[in-house]
Parts: sequence; structure tokens; C-alpha cells
Amino acid sequence: MKLTKTLVVLFGLLVTTNLSSAISATPPKAGARCAEAGKVQVSKGKKFTCIVKSKKLVWSAGVTVKATAPVLPKPTPIASAMPSQTPSPSPSQTPTPQVSPSLSPTPNSSPSPKVVVDFNPLALKAFEEVNKFSESPSKIRLKFEYGENLSSDLHMGLTKYTSKAAAIYSRFLSTPKEITIHIYSEKDMEKYRDNSVFQLDELKFWLDWYTKDLSISDSAYGHPGHNYRSVCKISKPTDCTGVSGEAGALYPSRATFNSLNYLNRSVVPHEMFHVIQDYFLYGSGGSFYLPQEDQDLSMPPTFREGGAVFFALAGGFESIEEYEKGITEVMNWMKKDFSAELKGLRTANDVVNLFLRLERLDRKSRTEYIMGAALHEWLIANYGLEKYIVLTQQHSYQKKFSENFASIYGVTLTEIYKLAAPEILIRITSKL
Ligand SMILES: [Zn+2]
Repeated sequence: MKLTKTLVVLFGLLVTTNLSSAISATPPKAGARCAEAGKVQVSKGKKFTCIVKSKKLVWSAGVTVKATAPVLPKPTPIASAMPSQTPSPSPSQTPTPQVSPSLSPTPNSSPSPKVVVDFNPLALKAFEEVNKFSESPSKIRLKFEYGENLSSDLHMGLTKYTSKAAAIYSRFLSTPKEITIHIYSEKDMEKYRDNSVFQLDELKFWLDWYTKDLSISDSAYGHPGHNYRSVCKISKPTDCTGVSGEAGALYPSRATFNSLNYLNRSVVPHEMFHVIQDYFLYGSGGSFYLPQEDQDLSMPPTFREGGAVFFALAGGFESIEEYEKGITEVMNWMKKDFSAELKGLRTANDVVNLFLRLERLDRKSRTEYIMGAALHEWLIANYGLEKYIVLTQQHSYQKKFSENFASIYGVTLTEIYKLAAPEILIRITSKL
């Protein structure tokens, strides 16, 4: 993840405090752990509220309620949120938003509610579109380099998750590729010397933090396998010979797969998606120095990072529930630093303007992670995965992304922002 220092720090910090999402899948019971303060659920005729007690989120003592009035989530107003104007690339790609009946709470169903899952039907459609291809034979040959000090549990979990994502990412490739994934801890220092992915000076903050604070077991730092800009800046750009086909992540040596939240489990597939993007951005010769502005013109941050967030979560996780937990954690992370900006989204027009700002390389806002992920849900649900694959394959440092996009989608990027904005507004504000 290419982040500013503040965001990088935040990424790790957020993750240390947000373990709650893994425990929302059981029916409420007084004193049992719950996921979100203020959340109300009815179970067996009693209403439970998620409260903070001794710094823990737990269900309150239940209050008896009439079984005829179960507290259920409101259905997502998907129909009214659809843009009145539909994208019209070709008849077969006309958006057909469908609300799966199983997603809408039905008042006549049993009074004991099922697990509350809060996600947008559009996200489900995009998730399913991506996972249609999870069974296809993978063209990616994954090689893992694990540090000796990492737990075997983390090793197994990340391998499984990354392999599932690789099978899906291989849809982007026409020829087989090998990708090497480096996963180390702060105790594997020697691995960072002369490493093709990591540079010791860039990692210093993380290595020190993981070494000093032994309570950190839920944090991650990742990087795709091309050169750091800072390294390139201190030498002549032409000296920066690139690598390709490699990605890496750093985890605290205490981490187990279960101690990581859903966002941190997705860091390796996130970086691996950048590797896929880079095959096309740089072409067959491998990566080389590209000024940030050129990178952004070839693919704006909403696609670069939004794509990596979306595909890491949709490609890696098995279920929409896990995907949604990942999205919620991305949102929580963004809210910490860009709360005012996200809360300022009141109208569809505000959403369009934020997308335009992000496209115009406004680095004051780094909301591209969540805004981009939401845009990907919308784009893939409405236009399918195949078109998106062509878009990625045809992007290059020699081409302007906006022109590439318009020629493939038959509609300009700005028009897409306008079409998507009403639903993205709902998607984002529902998580504020
Ligand atoms: Zn990234």
C-alpha cells in the first residue's frame, strides 16, 4: 500500500483496535462480545443492545419485547438509488440491479432474527461477478518466502487467502507468470538486506514499532515489487532498475491469522494486485522509474488503490460477509483521517466532485481507498468483470487513462462518476 507516513501509521493503529468485526456472527446473548456499539438485535423475544463495558463491547441484559416487532435492519434503498440515467455501453451490459430476496428482511419471517449482515446488494453483485471465476485454473505460479519467525498459522492462512485471490487475478493474464510473495516479521531483519521488495530505511518505523511494542499482533505493512520513489529520487531515475512479479508484507512476529482483522488479512493480495497492474503499466521489460504524475495519469489513484482494495477483498475472501467486514474496516481507517471529508458528502454532486479531485491528483485527500473500492463495486456490478480486465490490460505509462477508459466503456470517466454517485453516496454514508 503506498501511503503517506500518517496513513501508514494509522493503518497499523486502526488495525490494533479493530478486532470487533470477527465476532458479530453469533446471536446476541447477555455479556457475550458484540461488534458495534449501539447496535440493537432481537433474539428469542429479547432486545439486546451492544454496549461498552470494561472497555469491551458486549451485549446488554436483554429487554423483553413483543415478538411481533422484531428490530431488523432496513432494506437498502437500492431501487430509488439507481441513477435515472443508465449507462449504455451495449445492450448486454445494461445494468440490471437485482436485490436478492434473501437480503431483504421479511417481516413475516421467524421473530428470531438471523445474523445481521449490513451490505449493499450492489456489492454482493460485484462480489459474485468476481467469484464466478474462482474455479478457473490459475496462470499465476505463487512462490512464498516466509520469515522463520512467523507462526505457521499465519503462514497457512495467508497462503490460502492469497492463492484464492491469485486464481481470480490470473483472469487478467494471457500468459503464465510467477509471483514471489515475501512475508516477514520484525525478527527477520536479515531478510531486508538486499531484498528486491523491501528497503530497510523505509521499513524502519515498522520494524522499531513491532520490536518495541509487544502488544501489537494486528498490524501489517505491504509493498508491491517496484522501486520506492524515495530511492529513485536520490539516484538518477534511470538507475532505478525495476523488479516485477514480487510483492511483500511485514507482520508482527506475534501475529496469527486470527489476530489480524479482515483488512490486514488482505494486505498480501492487495500488493499482489498492484503486481498485476504493473505488468500492464510498465510492459514486458519490468518496472522502472516513473514520476508520480505519470503514474497517476496512466491510472488515477481511485483505480490504482480502489482496484487493489476491491480485488483483494472480493478475490481473497470466501463470503460476502467477510468481504463486507473488510470494507467496513477500510471505511473505519479512512474515517480516522478524513472524517470531515467523508461526512461532507451530502449530495451526489459532492461525490462527483471528490472523484474529480482525486483524479486531479489532489494528494490532500487519500480517500481513494474507500471511494475507489465503492466505485469498483458499482462499475463491476453494472458493466461486468470482462470489461474491467480489458481496461487494466490496456492501461500503460504511454497512455492517458481517461482516454483508455472512454474507448473501452463508451462513456467518459466523468459520466461514470455522475451515474455512480447516487449509489456511492448511500454506500459511503451508510458506514459513517
Ligand atoms: Zn496499494
